[in-house]
Amino acid sequence: MLRFFNTLTRSVHEFQPLEEGKVRMYICGPTVWNFAHIGNFRTFIFGDILRRYLKYKGYDVTHVFNLTDIDDRIINEAAKAGVTIDEFTAPFIKAFWEDFDALGMERPEVTPRATHHVPEMIAIIQKLIENGHAYESDGSIYYRITAFPEYGKLSRIKFDGNITGGSDRIDTDKYDKEDARDFALWKLVGETEEPGWDAEFGRGRPGWHIECSAMSMKYLGETFDLHAGGQDLQFPHHENEIAQSEGATGKLFAKYWIHSEFLKIDDVTMSKSKGNFFTFRDLREQGYSPLAIRYLLLSVPTRKQLNFTFEGLQAAESTVERLRNFRQLVSEAKCDAGANPFIDSSANKALVEFEAAMDDDFNTAAALAAIHNLVREINTHMADEMLLERDRELVLDAISRFDSVFGIFGKEDSEFLDNDIETLIEERNEARRSRNFARSDEIRDELAAKGIILKDTKDGVRWKRA
Ligand code: AMP
Ligand code: ZN
Repeated sequence: MLRFFNTLTRSVHEFQPLEEGKVRMYICGPTVWNFAHIGNFRTFIFGDILRRYLKYKGYDVTHVFNLTDIDDRIINEAAKAGVTIDEFTAPFIKAFWEDFDALGMERPEVTPRATHHVPEMIAIIQKLIENGHAYESDGSIYYRITAFPEYGKLSRIKFDGNITGGSDRIDTDKYDKEDARDFALWKLVGETEEPGWDAEFGRGRPGWHIECSAMSMKYLGETFDLHAGGQDLQFPHHENEIAQSEGATGKLFAKYWIHSEFLKIDDVTMSKSKGNFFTFRDLREQGYSPLAIRYLLLSVPTRKQLNFTFEGLQAAESTVERLRNFRQLVSEAKCDAGANPFIDSSANKALVEFEAAMDDDFNTAAALAAIHNLVREINTHMADEMLLERDRELVLDAISRFDSVFGIFGKEDSEFLDNDIETLIEERNEARRSRNFARSDEIRDELAAKGIILKDTKDGVRWKRA
């Protein structure tokens, strides 16, 4: 029975989806104004574990994960660079998905972009104006918090006059608001100013929060099961999403909320603004593997803080190497026919412990401990030549079940697909363009080790399997 902590109720409940066998979930994605850092990826990898574990439990999952491709930083940076928003965000979106795939995350079913959903945002704002939850001031549209008495139910913030619901990325203070807590839904822009969209209530651009109300309800319905994101989004972002959505529909927005704790570095939150961050790319350049980065980021349960250290990453590197070797050893072990009942029970025990840990508020640390115990036990049995043919199947089956959730054992060679090869070749081209010949040679060797032969031709790089 899956139980986890719901931020909305501040307690642990059994998970009961709205519709039997189905889960509809929304996770706030990145703002694509730069490369995502590994703190962002900690939250996103939890999202991946969440969807994979729900699938493991037999649910049919619809996962929506948005890209925020419009906000003040994007607008400012695009203007500085003298390019359009789309031109500015395109390379970061491309880089984001490359990192996302390299970190072994499954692509969500729907990955909408804010700029493609402005009409849906306008429709919600129009509804909020009509039912008295929003008002116009100086051409901009604000959410009227006094019209939504439940405001604050998620974050439980006590307003003392200093905190505003609009302490977000939109500069609301320039305009007159009825109440300091009111936040911008739509910001007026001039006739020729870009970016701007026409709406009945005037040309403007959306505030930050309205996009997630629009994209979640469009793809998941007015009420859906689960909404997640990093801890910092609880207020004001998620609080405002609830106010907008429930204010417009009069219905419960999301039944369960999960907030991930921060990745820290030297006990300070990793963030762009503090400058104390590493991107996935930084760590790759230093030679760390995607698998080790993934392992480290998922190794601590999501509601606990994780302090990043290079020692920790190095240890993760050895751990994933050990897991990969283990699977290979088991696969290649020469086993006599037959089965040992104690191995059957070890594998079963590990699966039961794994599931019990994950059912307990996604306790990834305890779930990993179950996997490591099994590896230790089976290693001993293999050393004693006790592993029989049927045992091997059971152990490999247990590993693939664990790995359908964690994705930390690495791909088997047969899973090394054309796409992966193309990605590495592209990375090698990039390395050569930037005269990083060490990396380009490394990639050639990595491919050679997998039996992929590269040929540089005048039309580019060709490859074939040996
Ligand atoms: P952003 O790109 O700023 O919109 O953030 C994307 C996601 O990363 C949000 O869910 C944030 O809460 C989350 N996030 C930002 N910094 C960290 C961090 N240091 N650790 C974990 N999650 C983070
Ligand atoms: Zn959001």
